[in-house]
Amino acid sequence: MIITIIGWIILSFLFLGVILYILYSKAKSQKTIEKMAYTDFVTGYSNWRKFELDVRNLLKKASQNDKHAMVIFDIDKFKAINDIYGHKKGNSILKDIADTLDSITHNNETFARVSSDNFNMLLSYDTREDIINVIKKIIINNDFVNLSFGIYEIKDKSLSISAYSDRASLAKLSIKNNRDINFAFFNDELRDKLLLEDKIEKKMEYALENNQFIMYLQPKYNIKSEKFCGSEALVRWQYTEKEFIYPSDFIPIFEKNGFITKIDMYILEQACKEIRTLFDKGISPLPISVNFSRVDFFKKDFITKIVNICDKYKIPYSLIEIEITESSMFGDTDTLFEVSRSLQDIGFILSMDDFGSGYSSVNMLKNIPLNVIKLDRGFFIDDKNIDKNQIVIKSIVSLIKQLGIRVVAEGIETKSQVEMLRKANCDIIQGYYFSKPLPVKEFEKLVYKI
Ligand code: C2E
Ligand code: MG
Ligand code: MG
Repeated sequence: MIITIIGWIILSFLFLGVILYILYSKAKSQKTIEKMAYTDFVTGYSNWRKFELDVRNLLKKASQNDKHAMVIFDIDKFKAINDIYGHKKGNSILKDIADTLDSITHNNETFARVSSDNFNMLLSYDTREDIINVIKKIIINNDFVNLSFGIYEIKDKSLSISAYSDRASLAKLSIKNNRDINFAFFNDELRDKLLLEDKIEKKMEYALENNQFIMYLQPKYNIKSEKFCGSEALVRWQYTEKEFIYPSDFIPIFEKNGFITKIDMYILEQACKEIRTLFDKGISPLPISVNFSRVDFFKKDFITKIVNICDKYKIPYSLIEIEITESSMFGDTDTLFEVSRSLQDIGFILSMDDFGSGYSSVNMLKNIPLNVIKLDRGFFIDDKNIDKNQIVIKSIVSLIKQLGIRVVAEGIETKSQVEMLRKANCDIIQGYYFSKPLPVKEFEKLVYKI
C-alpha cells in the first residue's frame, strides 16, 4: 500500500517535471524566436521592429518635459565602399558604427540599423547642442566614412514613428551631396518646400498633357534702330485658372528629375508653331530664343530632336536662338562646346545667358562657340559706383563685340539704365522697361501690330 502511494507520488513528480520542462522549452524557443525577430544580424543589435517597439515605449514613459529627437543617418557612397572593399568590410563598418551607438546611448534612448546603411536613433536632449555633440562623437569614432544626418525634434507625439523617420529623412535629403554640411534639422520651410516639390512632381506629366505649360514671349528691343528685334520664350505653368507657378519653382526640380528635356522641347515646339503661324499670315517673323538646360546637352538625341521639331514646322534654323546659362559651364565642358558647335554649324544661333552672374572667366569666351552673350541684370543694378560701373560695362560690351559676338542687356527696368547702355554701345535690350513677358496674343499685338 505504502509502496503504491510512494509510486504515485514519484509518478506525479515526474509528470510535473515533464510538464515544467515542456513549458520551459516553449518559453525558451519563444525567446529565441523573439530574439530572431528583433535582432539585426549584421550588427547584433535591434532591427527596425524592435526599434519601433522601444521608441513607442520610451515615448510613452517620457514625462511632459522630456524632449526626444529622431536622428537618422547613412553612409555616403556606401555602395562604392562595398564594391571596392568587399561586403565583409562593409559589414564590419556597419558593426563598428552600431558599437559606437551602443556605447553613447543611454537608458531612455535607443538605436537600430533599419536597412542597408541606414541607422535610426531616438535621442533624449535639452538643447540642439546636445544632439550635435552626439553626432560629432559618431563622426569622430567612424572617420573612415562620411555620414549624413537628418534630425527631427519630436513635437507632435501623435504621429507615427515612420512619420518621425520620414521627416528626419527629408532633412537629411536636403544636405545629401553637400560635402561641407553633414547634418540638418527638419524645419517648416523644408516641409513647405518638399510639399511643393511633391505637388509639382505628381502633377507635371498631367500638366504637360493638358497644356498647362504656357509660352510667354518677352520682346528684345534695338535702341539704335528703335525696333523690336526678337524675343525670348519663357515658360509659365498655369496650375489653376488663377494660380501660376513660375520657373524658379519648378525648373530646378525638373532639372533634377530629368523632366526638363520634355519641357524645353515643348517650348521649342510652341516657338516653332508661332513662327509658322506668322509665316502663314505673310509676316516676316523675328527670331525667338529658347532656354535649354545643361542636362539637355548631354542627351544623345538632343540635336536630332531640335532639328526634327524645326523641320516639322519648316522653320529656318537661324530663327531659333539656343540659350544656355553661364552657370552650366562646368564639368564636362568639352561635350557642351561640341554639341553647341554642331548646332551652330547647322545654322542655329547660340547664346550664353546670365553672363556675369557666375564664375566663368572672360578667357573662356575665346573657346565657346557663341553668337550672342546676354549680360546678366546684376551688371546694371549696382548704383553705388555709377562711374566705375559705366567703365566696366562699356569695356565688356566692347570686348564681346570685338570677339564677333552680339550683346544683349537683360533685366533693364529704367530709363537711366537704357541711357547708360546707349553710351556703352549696347544696342539690344530686354527688360520690363520695354515690356514684361507677354502671352503670345498680346506679344503679337505689341510687336507685329496684329
Ligand atoms: P532667364 O532665361 O535669364 O530669363 C529672364 C528672366 O528675367 C525671366 O524670368 C524674366 O521674366 C525676368 N525678367 C525679364 N525682364 C526683367 C526685368 O526687367 N526685371 C526683372 N527683375 N526680371 C526680368 P522667369 O520667366 O521667371 O524665368 C526665370 C528663369 O527660368 C529664366 O531665366 C530661365 O533660366 C528659366 N526658364 C524660363 N523658361 C524656361 C524654359 O522653357 N526652359 C528652361 N530650361 N529654363 C527656363
Ligand atoms: Mg534666358
Ligand atoms: Mg537670363
